[in-house]
Amino acid sequence: MKINLKQIFDIVGESKKFGYEIGTDELEGVKGFTFSTPVSLEGRFYNRAGVVYLEYSAAFEMLHTCDRCLKEFSKNYDLSFEHIVVPSVSNSDNDDYIVADGESIEVNEIALTDMLLSLPTKVLCREDCKGLCMVCGCDLNEKQCDHLNNNEL
Ligand SMILES: [Zn+2]
Ligand SMILES: [Zn+2]
Repeated sequence: MKINLKQIFDIVGESKKFGYEIGTDELEGVKGFTFSTPVSLEGRFYNRAGVVYLEYSAAFEMLHTCDRCLKEFSKNYDLSFEHIVVPSVSNSDNDDYIVADGESIEVNEIALTDMLLSLPTKVLCREDCKGLCMVCGCDLNEKQCDHLNNNEL
């Protein structure tokens, strides 16, 4: 969703709240990740002493495949982020800042980038998942075979 920041940039002390969902149809375009719910965003922009901040949280559920036993499972996330927003690129390009496109900003893009950067690349269905037997392929969480396994990641 595009949010207009003109007032926020212009008026010290001004703030603007937002809360909406990124639908699953838009999330289908995100490569490598499967969302099982829409992403619920809630946050605000505010101008503190002339500096504009964005703080928000993203809540969603994601479908993962366990890296050890290949079982599918879903996991809930509730992530929080904070950024400084500037109206245009002033000097060098600084990754710590988010640059608004003129007077408005596309929050979906920021949120998806933040989320994907903070999601783990390797996920286990549970911390002590025993994985699959390297020899016979059985799920070692459910049964024990006679093969010797070393499933350390
Ligand atoms: Zn597992
Ligand atoms: Zn086995």
